[in-house]
Order: sequence, then structure tokens, then C-alpha cells
Amino acid sequence: MINLILFGPPGSGKGTQAAKLAKAFNLYHISTGDLFRHEMQNETPLGLEAKKYMNKGELVPDEVTIGMLSNKLDEQVGKVDGFIFDGFPRTQPQAEALDKLLDLKNTAISLVLALEVGEDEITKRILDRAKQSENPRPDDLDESIIRNRFQVYLKQTAQVADHYKQADKFVTLDGIGSIDEIFDSLQAAVNDIK
Ligand code: ADP
Repeated sequence: MINLILFGPPGSGKGTQAAKLAKAFNLYHISTGDLFRHEMQNETPLGLEAKKYMNKGELVPDEVTIGMLSNKLDEQVGKVDGFIFDGFPRTQPQAEALDKLLDLKNTAISLVLALEVGEDEITKRILDRAKQSENPRPDDLDESIIRNRFQVYLKQTAQVADHYKQADKFVTLDGIGSIDEIFDSLQAAVNDIK
């Protein structure tokens, strides 16, 4: 199996690139943000719980997020050639839980691909995305919430990189450029491990 993590701040293009990589390598794309938004739309108890955090740009508690991810893995293992994780893990306990869950399935993370984009570019991209969308995400509409998401990334998520650097499974790529240019460099990094 190939199991990839797409890492980087909010608005760095993880969702777009994860979908393209999933198609290219026959991987199952798991976006915890998309899973939470789906639960919110259906007004499930999980969705209502997640909404309290998402609309402020805070992280949903680890136990809730890890439980949801674990269910998704159980559902898909055996059906695909691997996974691409987008927006997960976002904390050290999530990274440790993911290692354990994959180990139970006799597999592991192959590579973490980190997209580098600065705060001002991110804020601009997310505000543009909200303007262009017919149904914008509430957490994309307000600059202070976007900046809070970036701060949460710096304080709670950025350090997760060390977990994978220690295991020598971490590659950093420039997240500025066209969608195709960035996809080419991501694809080349994945082909290097194959
Ligand atoms: P973005 O990367 O643009 O912030 P996401 O769709 O990945 O968008 O995440 C949106 C929100 O969903 C986050 O701000 C957070 O509230 C919640 N969320 C997504 N993934 C996680 C996670 N792994 N742990 C905790 N909360 C998460």
C-alpha cells in the first residue's frame, strides 16, 4: 500500500492536490474537514459537535476526530491501494493514533508531502475562494477566523512535522505555483518512493 499525508497550513491547496494524487495512484482520499462538513450538513450529533469548533477555526477534539477517521479506515481497507490523508493528523496524539491504526492493518505512512505557503498568501486565497463560491464555508468568510486557523496550525499542527522528519518520511515542496506545476512536483516525490 502507499499511504500519503498531505501536510500544510489551511488554504495551501491540500484538498485540490489530494484529489489529483488519489486519482493518479488509486488511493482513497480522506479529508477530515470534508467528513466533518458532511456530518454537519446532515445535522448528526457528530456534525453538531464539530460545528462548535469549526466555525471558530479551532480544532475538533482529538478523540472525536480519531474515532471518525478510524471508522473510515475500517470501511475502506482492502478496497484500495492506499490512502491519502488531507487535514489529518493535525496534532501529535492524532499522528500517534494514525501510526497505531495503520500498524493494526499491517501498513504504515509511506511519505508526508508538505506544501509551503505563507500566511498573507493563504488569507488572500481563502477569501478569494469564499468570494467565488456560491455556498462559501462559514470559516472562510471572516479574515479573523482565517488568521486564527493559521495560528492554530502554527501552535498545534506544525510540530507534527517533527514526528515524520524523525522517521525520515518528510518532503517539503513549494506550494506557490500553478496547480499543475505543484502536482508535477508532488507526483515526482511519490514516484521516488515507489
Ligand atoms: P482548512 O485546511 O482549509 O482549514 P479543512 O477542511 O481541512 O480546511 O478543516 C476545516 C476545519 O475542520 C478545521 O478548522 C477544524 O475545525 C476541523 N478539522 C479538520 N480536520 C481536523 C483534524 N484532523 N483535527 C481537528 N479538527 C479538524
